[in-house]
Amino acid sequence: GPKSKRLLEKQQHIDSGAVAYPNYIPIAMHEAKGATLRDVDGNTFIDFFAGIGVLNVGHSNPYVLEAVEEQTRKLVHTIDFPTEARLELIEKLNEIAPGELPDSNRVVFGGPTGSDAIEATIKLAKYNTGGDGLIAFRGAYHGGSSGALSLTGGKQYKEAYTPLLSDVHHAPYPYPLQQGLSEEEAVERAIENVRELIEDPYSGFANPAGIWVEPIQGEGGIVVPPADFLPQLREIATENDIPLIIDEIQTGIGRTGKWFASEWTDVTPDVMPMAKALGGIGLPLSATMYHEDLDTWGPGGHVGTWRGNTPAMRAGTRAIEYIQAHDLLEHSRELGSYMRDRLREVAAETPQIGEVRGKGLFTGVEFLDEDGNPDKDVVKHIRTYCYKHGVLVWSAGRYGNVLRLMPPLVITQELMTTGMDIVVDAIEENTS
Ligand code: PMP
Repeated sequence: GPKSKRLLEKQQHIDSGAVAYPNYIPIAMHEAKGATLRDVDGNTFIDFFAGIGVLNVGHSNPYVLEAVEEQTRKLVHTIDFPTEARLELIEKLNEIAPGELPDSNRVVFGGPTGSDAIEATIKLAKYNTGGDGLIAFRGAYHGGSSGALSLTGGKQYKEAYTPLLSDVHHAPYPYPLQQGLSEEEAVERAIENVRELIEDPYSGFANPAGIWVEPIQGEGGIVVPPADFLPQLREIATENDIPLIIDEIQTGIGRTGKWFASEWTDVTPDVMPMAKALGGIGLPLSATMYHEDLDTWGPGGHVGTWRGNTPAMRAGTRAIEYIQAHDLLEHSRELGSYMRDRLREVAAETPQIGEVRGKGLFTGVEFLDEDGNPDKDVVKHIRTYCYKHGVLVWSAGRYGNVLRLMPPLVITQELMTTGMDIVVDAIEENTS
């Protein structure tokens, strides 16, 4: 519409060239509620990306918003003074902590972004092990600050900024489709590589500090590893007495139909950074939960001005309460299955679909061309079709060839059906 056009033109003049705005989707946003967004020209869109996994409880969730408004009038910023908001959130996070983590995990707040939380995990792992070798995975995305960028796999993100942290190794992440391997072979390749690095004294990797892994790779393409991958990593970490750091920044707070994606394989992390949906209605907040045994930092061991914004903390607690009260984990598992069932029906008749993957409301559809190579253009065409018909979808993947579908967990079956009708049409219209 005309108003969108005007704002877009203005943005192109005064905003940074770095904005990753898809210029083939020319809309400017005005407001949002639940699982819908409205642009400045009054067009409504079904939200199938939730601000990349931020709006799990929906835009402007009234139960969260109420507490944020109240807290904002009372007290916003106090650094580390005890507040009810802060202690409530720590207790709430302990209540939903995955697996065998004790009730006495520690939670450290740093800066508000996922990258900030990752920096905290790097410091925590080095501090506790005395090591400096970091193990991460190919295709991983852990953030844009220098430490987090070191752990990130994609060359496109980091090549202009080297040297970053030096002793980092990226092992292959199990990705059977792209590797042309069976699930078993893909896991074996990953696990062997990590084991050799740590256990072979001639691997050149002297002092491991930890293993960083996404339980499902997000930016990398909603890559769901075979179920025995994380348990085997857990074993290696335990045997070698180094922390397993499971990055739940994108997958956490219910996104995959469990509180944390590691629960799908009953693996307990030692350290668990989270951000994104933790801020409830999109307030910036990150936190890193870690096992009490790793709580060796003395006072001031990890600092940062924005370590704990009281309204954002209230938002986090309320978001978790809301998910509990409305059984949104189960709801998202059901709607996620519905979504993938429909996509698999289409896939059966669409050779260009290489795979439909996901857990809960975290779904990826990978597109390949006739030669089996990544097909990025078709994803772009599908996104364009979707926005024109009122659904906003995203992309992911090392090659941008994965359609990423991740609506707010509060989405109703009715909106989901309408949205999926359009996504299915979009695929059928743009593939042969
Ligand atoms: N880890 C993962 C798994 C992520 O998906 C992201 C963001 N996409 C980050 C870390 C970095 O978070 P932020 O962008 O808030 O720094």
